[in-house]
Amino acid sequence: MIEIKTDEEIELLRKSNLLLSATLANVAPLMKPGITTLEIDRVAEEYIRDHGGVPGFKGYSGFPNTLCISVNDQVVHGIPSNRVLQEGDIVSVDCGVFMNGFHGDSAYTFAVGEISEELQNLIRVTREALFLGIAKAVAGNRIGDIGHAIQEHAEANRFSVVREMVGHGVGRNLHEEPEVPNYGRPGTGPMLREGMTIAIEPMINLGRRQIYQERDGWTIRTADHKPSAHFEHSIAVRATKADVLSDFEIIDKVLNNN
Ligand code: MG
Ligand code: MG
Repeated sequence: MIEIKTDEEIELLRKSNLLLSATLANVAPLMKPGITTLEIDRVAEEYIRDHGGVPGFKGYSGFPNTLCISVNDQVVHGIPSNRVLQEGDIVSVDCGVFMNGFHGDSAYTFAVGEISEELQNLIRVTREALFLGIAKAVAGNRIGDIGHAIQEHAEANRFSVVREMVGHGVGRNLHEEPEVPNYGRPGTGPMLREGMTIAIEPMINLGRRQIYQERDGWTIRTADHKPSAHFEHSIAVRATKADVLSDFEIIDKVLNNN
């Protein structure tokens, strides 16, 4: 069953997501050569707790940290470690914040120093694909409309879409129904209704779409070891235009002033 949230519940979900976005903005200036992903994770955890939230991922199915930090060919679910970021890396940071009974879920891919034009393109197209998907998240459309818009844009740019990992409903639980694939056919899948809240999260690969899981039981990597990008927003379905509950502008602003 897909849960419909009240306006009050959606506002609580927004609060969790806005603290999450502020957390990503807070770590954005740290995305520089020489820092370890574990240092970034510690800063994020402290920020969330200082502002009255709880890291939503820590302990979820046993995940050990606050952030999923996935570098280059790591697609998602990277575990923060002593890995040192290098000039030219791309870093997908996925964050969860639990507050007032509701889970925020959002992700952003950062560039470390100067990155290649190819990677700039990958990041730009992944982000555009997310917003094309969000544009389809209106009442009366279907889940397949979202995935189709994402897939079409990624593949038109000769990138590939990860199939095994998908977006999802979000609310009192981090993962709720429905699944929100980043591929699909228009007019298929569950009908979207006002008050549904979902996380849309394209994972787009520079090379082929195949992935595998590392022996740590978490980290997902591309099979061809080419880089992958990931952007995610939590949104509420509305009648004419989706309400985006997380916020990239606060992150962009920090990056532009750095
Ligand atoms: Mg996420
Ligand atoms: Mg998610």
